[in-house]
Amino acid sequence: MALKLNKNYKKIKNNYIFVEINQRKSNYLKNNKNAKIIDLGVGDVTRPLNKELVEEMQKALNEQIHARTFKGYPPENGYDFLKIQILNYYKQRNVVLQNKDIFISNGACCDVTNILDLFKKNVAVIVSPTYPAYYDSNFLQGNKILLLKSNQDNGFMASPKNLKNKSYLIYLCSPNNPTGVVYTTEQLKQWVDFANKTSSLIIFDCAYESFISDDNLPHFIYEIDGAKTCAIEIASFSKMAGFTNLRCGWTVVPSQLKLNESSINEMWTRRQCTKFNGVPYMIQKGACFALTKNGKLFCKKNIDYYKTNLKILTNCLKQLKIETFSSLHSPYVWFKCPQGLSSWQFFDILLEKCQIVGVPGVGFGKEGEGYFRFSAFAKRKDILIACNRLQQLKKD
Ligand code: PLP
Repeated sequence: MALKLNKNYKKIKNNYIFVEINQRKSNYLKNNKNAKIIDLGVGDVTRPLNKELVEEMQKALNEQIHARTFKGYPPENGYDFLKIQILNYYKQRNVVLQNKDIFISNGACCDVTNILDLFKKNVAVIVSPTYPAYYDSNFLQGNKILLLKSNQDNGFMASPKNLKNKSYLIYLCSPNNPTGVVYTTEQLKQWVDFANKTSSLIIFDCAYESFISDDNLPHFIYEIDGAKTCAIEIASFSKMAGFTNLRCGWTVVPSQLKLNESSINEMWTRRQCTKFNGVPYMIQKGACFALTKNGKLFCKKNIDYYKTNLKILTNCLKQLKIETFSSLHSPYVWFKCPQGLSSWQFFDILLEKCQIVGVPGVGFGKEGEGYFRFSAFAKRKDILIACNRLQQLKKD
């Protein structure tokens, strides 16, 4: 008898947004060979790594030459030196966690999707528009998906108020990709209270936490009372320290978190020991440096660079009377396509008339139709050229 395959892989719409974007981009380039396209689409960093951080990793690699310092498999859940640094990072926001609550990962994307290993079929609540990995992983697992509208009416910050009193897997992302909005303490408290009341689990993605510069806004879900009994948190060094290639992040699964009397921390530990053999020593050394005083200064410098890009882009859009919705605590500007254009119509006009590429909002879900996302991770000179071209478009 033939092997049984997961048919959801066939059913999932093959509309991975960046494939379509690249297709349109290369079609355009075929007919316009000399065009200098400015890419404000991809959410990948462009600033190089810090020299000291790289030296730290080189030192770690050199340790592998000597029998005395050679290292084999890393601990599945991460080296203590990095976990301690992360615990201190939380303490700065008055969040006290235990060493065993922290799991070092090779990036947020893996854990945000692998967490489903702990569950049978459930209902996932996903805010739409959304970072696609939440939707796709639940679709592939065969979970029922409840899309919660996040739109202009609720300031792109969906709340649980219309949800039934049932247990859900709830995905929240703040600062949000793609909308750039940040939940306030009061808004997150509503989610935490709802999750505790209904024995739901919040999967809180804080991959862009380091972009928050307002001390009154919560960086971590555990700043909210009651979160340790209903939420796991997934964090990343990717955008914070430029680790999109090196791959490192962490996940917090508090020891207090129990569902159906089972410890999620114990289950995740078991899962990681069976399916994950840890992050390389050298990478964890680099990540650890990023959380030192010097490392943090360096990260801040790069984040400030991207945030200045964001301000320039946002101001330019505002001058063009385009409505923007994002905060300044993220690397993304989310805006309404002008003149009622659809997301893809605006994409084609931008490409054709300005040679600028962005991401059509509809690529993040139906609620994103009519909106658009620019990423501020580009180089400053490209941001300035893009603004110039946009202003020119208005004049023409
Ligand atoms: N979560 C969100 C909201 C993201 O936007 C991204 C990457 O763009 C990730 C997670 C993936 O992060 P990592 O590079 O750590 O896998």
